[in-house]
Amino acid sequence: MEEFKKLGLSKRTISVLEKKGFKKPTSIQVKGIPLLLDGKKDVVGQSQTGTGKTAVFALPILERIKEHSKTIQAIILTPTRELAIQVATEINSLKGDRNIKVLSVYGGTPIEVQRQKLRAGIDIVVGTPGRIMDLQRRRSLILDKIQYAVLDEADEMLNMGFVDDIESILQHTPKDKTMLLFSATMPKPILRIAERYMRDYEFIEVEQAQIITNTVKQIYYDINSRDKIAGLKRIIDATVDFHGIVFCNTKATVDNLALQLTKLKYQASALHGDITQGQREKILQQFRKRTIKVLVATDVAARGIDVNDLTHVINFSLPQSPELYVHRIGRTGRAGKTGIAITFVSPSERRMLSYVERVNKCKLIKQELPSIKDIIESKKAEIKIIIKKIIEGNSTKYLEFAEELLKEYPPTEVVSAVLKYSLKDELDVNSYKDLSAAIEIQKPRRRSDRNRPQRNNRHRDARRPRRNNNRR
Ligand code: ADP
Ligand code: MG
Repeated sequence: MEEFKKLGLSKRTISVLEKKGFKKPTSIQVKGIPLLLDGKKDVVGQSQTGTGKTAVFALPILERIKEHSKTIQAIILTPTRELAIQVATEINSLKGDRNIKVLSVYGGTPIEVQRQKLRAGIDIVVGTPGRIMDLQRRRSLILDKIQYAVLDEADEMLNMGFVDDIESILQHTPKDKTMLLFSATMPKPILRIAERYMRDYEFIEVEQAQIITNTVKQIYYDINSRDKIAGLKRIIDATVDFHGIVFCNTKATVDNLALQLTKLKYQASALHGDITQGQREKILQQFRKRTIKVLVATDVAARGIDVNDLTHVINFSLPQSPELYVHRIGRTGRAGKTGIAITFVSPSERRMLSYVERVNKCKLIKQELPSIKDIIESKKAEIKIIIKKIIEGNSTKYLEFAEELLKEYPPTEVVSAVLKYSLKDELDVNSYKDLSAAIEIQKPRRRSDRNRPQRNNRHRDARRPRRNNNRR
């Protein structure tokens, strides 16, 4: 806790953090919190997802604003409804016993309810740009007294085409507020927003390579494209209690892979931009509860998913930009825990791999996929654990039946038959496809190669505003 104290936070805040189980500040918190408490400058902060950026802005805001002043004192813009809820929840958990009211607002829910709550007096509003603009137009959200404006996940808001909305919202805010901008990546258009709307600002960042290597073990497998599903099956089966996100580059691949996995009897689900907000929330809830173990997702859809304790992040294909790679693997190894990031690299993706490594200054370790023998051993170990638990649970349910069977046949044969009855083909070597012995050699590259790394991909996306479900 000493390290938190040194940042200048009050006793009141420290005791909240203690209760929340925070032991020491993350690097971005060490850099950002004192600056914001000081309050002289605006701040642009860049660090990977999961490094605690919310607390960087939330703690100083909570320390500095008046309690229950009945006017909005801070506005936080987020790209999605999910994130708005998440950030509001995090702020509520950080505020302790302060009399400060936080409200999240977003599209897709009745606006009247939000208007009513706003009338009752709210201190901090967190929301998506579309709904905030809507509420401004109806004069339910008056921002002329705010002291803080925060753009959270600014790069994603940019990708979703929210730039104009953000500018329009900011026009209705006082000039002398403190403005903060947080982002996992810092493409040029974001810096332009900072230049235009911010006063004298300080840029703080935490180096990517450092964070990546600290908590995420990065592995890659050389594999032919056609073997990727079989390879994925092996990884899932070789892991006790697999719980992970599998990333694909297109909606079509996501749908197809989720379907294949479901056919193979895995508890899998697809998540991408065409999935309605309602469905999305159901899926995420099931994923959190581990009813869904494999979430197959596109980059945009996976943004803002805050699920801790994932066993794996898998790049079914390498992403189209090195920054996205960092985003993806940032889904695991969160808040000090160790995670595994696995990348499938087909021959045509080799160059992209070196590019990702070079830009992110990271190194992926090559490994061999688990062999069928390994998988079966690991499954047996898992089954033994379950059986042990059942025996220790002293269930008497089938004792009579067991005695009856044992009177008729030798014990080894009875157990073996019962295993066969309950496991069916689960430990059958033949349920695993042999992977191609050789990795195909890549043909010489032509200039038209579609896999050529594209540095400006994110910018290109930004110029083509995408409609998103949160925006009504
Ligand atoms: P980001 O915005 O950088 O993606 P978040 O603010 O969402 O990250 O934080 C990710 C998770 O880490 C949250 O569950 C948060 O409560 C937790 N967290 C933040 N700071 C700390 C800390 N200093 N120690 C432990 N956990 C933390
Ligand atoms: Mg965040």
